[in-house]
Amino acid sequence: MKPLFALAALAATVSLMSAPAQAQAFPGGKPVSLVVPFAAGGPTDRVARDLAEAMRKQMPGSNFVVENAAGAGGTIGANKVAKAAPDGYTLLLFHIGMAATPAMYRKLTYKPLEDFEYLGLINEVPMTLVGKPQLPANTYRDFENYIRANAGKLNLAHAGLGSASHLCGLLWQAALKNGEAMTTIPFGGTAPAMNALVGGQVDVMCDQTTNTTQQIEGGRIKAFAVTTAKPLSNNKVLKDYPTLQEMGLKGFNLTIWHGLYAPKGTPPAVTAALNTALKAALKDADFIKKQDGLGAIVVTDNRVEPANHKAFVAAEMTKIKTAVDAAKQYAD
Ligand code: ASP
Repeated sequence: MKPLFALAALAATVSLMSAPAQAQAFPGGKPVSLVVPFAAGGPTDRVARDLAEAMRKQMPGSNFVVENAAGAGGTIGANKVAKAAPDGYTLLLFHIGMAATPAMYRKLTYKPLEDFEYLGLINEVPMTLVGKPQLPANTYRDFENYIRANAGKLNLAHAGLGSASHLCGLLWQAALKNGEAMTTIPFGGTAPAMNALVGGQVDVMCDQTTNTTQQIEGGRIKAFAVTTAKPLSNNKVLKDYPTLQEMGLKGFNLTIWHGLYAPKGTPPAVTAALNTALKAALKDADFIKKQDGLGAIVVTDNRVEPANHKAFVAAEMTKIKTAVDAAKQYAD
């Protein structure tokens, strides 16, 4: 091949290679995997499926696919994304566990603040103290008396050490003080834990309203209290349940949150595109309505900004570590 001809052929090859890349901005035609580190059908899965739909609308031609990688309080899924290719096609939708797991797993295989690009905060979700339908108690007072009378005999279900349900159960038991110890039973998520509660195989759970509201409304479980500082007056199902503070547990206030994360090193153009789509998705009326019906509050203010969310997670880590160290509940 003559040098000039060879050069022309090379130029043609290069332009053929770069043409599709230039024409198709992220995500192009490739599906984006939204890794949920808990079981399908549970509260985090629910947020992810609703968000996937809202994100699809914001990135025309895109396909956000939910992938459940459950186990060990969310750490299996989080580790998977921390080690995934940093190209924007594998994202993590995690919750307060992002800040709770480092306190509980002293041998964590990923670093929540260093191994991820923060894409933003999604929502805030109150929690509810619920019990199996066969429990004799109907009010929080009766429930607490029943627990005290049956110390050591009851089971508390949760989604693994470091999950929201575990953290809530731990803080609640600590606030109750002595005499009401329960055996904790871990599941791969609160979807299977909820099945066990409805079926009466476990006694008690503290779970997100996104998972409990419909079960409470359907009369399949009993509800006793909400974990927020103020009653959930705007929610038609949960508005009449007392807060734990009202029931004498001074200062008890737990609202969990969900956020979106990409592996560290994901190109800034990709994280910016995802953040822009996320912000718009959070304003999607359908998404807000669905979340609202389940007691979750979609965040649209500047707490969504990646830097603000990262600072918030760092502060949560410190707060939760203090509580976990006091309770001395570690996963290892
Ligand atoms: N978020 C978990 C789930 O989706 C529950 C939990 O953290 O308690 O199952």
